[in-house]
Amino acid sequence: MIEINETHDQNLKSWIESANTADTDFPIQNLPFCVFNRAGTYENTRIGVGIGDFVLDVYPCYEAGLFDDESFTIAVAAHNYCLDHSAMKKNPSLQRAFRRRAIEILSKNADEQTRRIVQRNLIPINEAEFWMPVHIGDYTDFYCSIFHATNVGSMFRPDNPLLPNYKYVPIGYHGRASSVVISGTEITRPKGQNRSDADAPPQFVACKNLDYEMEVGFFVGKGNELGESVSLDEAEEHIFGLCLVNDWSARDIQAWEYQPLGPFLAKNFATSISPFVVTMEALAPFRVPAFKRDGGDPQPLDYLSSENNQKFGGLDLTLEVYLQTEKMRDENIEPFLLSRSNTKDLYWTIGQMLTHHASNGCNLQTGDLMATGTVSGDSKDSRGCLLELTWRGTEPLELPNGETRRFLEDGDEVIMKGFCEKEGFRRIGFGECRGVILPAE
Ligand code: MN
Repeated sequence: MIEINETHDQNLKSWIESANTADTDFPIQNLPFCVFNRAGTYENTRIGVGIGDFVLDVYPCYEAGLFDDESFTIAVAAHNYCLDHSAMKKNPSLQRAFRRRAIEILSKNADEQTRRIVQRNLIPINEAEFWMPVHIGDYTDFYCSIFHATNVGSMFRPDNPLLPNYKYVPIGYHGRASSVVISGTEITRPKGQNRSDADAPPQFVACKNLDYEMEVGFFVGKGNELGESVSLDEAEEHIFGLCLVNDWSARDIQAWEYQPLGPFLAKNFATSISPFVVTMEALAPFRVPAFKRDGGDPQPLDYLSSENNQKFGGLDLTLEVYLQTEKMRDENIEPFLLSRSNTKDLYWTIGQMLTHHASNGCNLQTGDLMATGTVSGDSKDSRGCLLELTWRGTEPLELPNGETRRFLEDGDEVIMKGFCEKEGFRRIGFGECRGVILPAE
């Protein structure tokens, strides 16, 4: 686990004023990575760091001598089109050195010449276009919220909502990397087999029950060799950083296809991720104990159990989902808050997910994306998908302009946000993960 250190000091201020406002996602204590270019240009994409209302273009700062070669591998690799795998898998201490130097050049103590170099490499976020931050080789989605699993299970199996493996195994499935897209990409409603009438054969039609899932993703930094595993106490050394994930889901397709091998076409038509990758070091102040299991629950098996994980394996990250329909946009009605949940309610920690994934000798590779599964809490307003919020469509949601929703309709935009707050520390945010639904082809 990364200790809290001087980079988390809430008194650190930037000479970039927008980084010092109370509600910014990107104060100097955060410094998430992204890949961007200037919107509407044919410029090469490049590595940026979020600071206040700006993206800092890292490579020209390196060229101007603000970062040195040895310690700042991330910057050296930043002329590549996305976060470079060879840099991501380097010892995380290099990332920490990069963070320290970035704080120096952005802090109030930076000298005039440094500020001049930085100034000409700041691009306003609203003038930037964002691209996939990492080339994702493989994508795995877990199912780690016991509240989500219990809710969904009780719709399909009222007497036996949670299957017997749940408290032993971090359940997951192999998703599809090719359809992971960056926030802002429009999502075409999928078509598929629908068998809502149990007495008739299935029909191939546009999805009728389109849903989102509020999740958090993490990228693998350093991988492991085929045949080797990763111990729980080493797991986080393999995690490069976190982002927001929307695991778009076609519930009608899912209900018919999911047995016996799990989700397939109901999930792999699209998965959206937020553009900024928040580093493990930035998250250090917001680590909390792992989920407190009920007295009657089994303890995790030895390979999924450690004192550090128990004490600091959890993460206090608040997640919000907003919906804005086409009509709301036309009427200038603000996006409507659908739910607020928190990753501290996950039954398994991100370390346990990674360790479990590699426990059979599966080789995780730099750039792999893993996601937590829908993050839902105990209360009704913390349910992280429409399937739960509308109880499979039986309790439609009412929106501020009188519209109702069972599931997503064409033109709807789903907006996800995430942030960490704690007394004595600066609030840090993840930015946004957005997607608008287009009609089926
Ligand atoms: Mn999911």
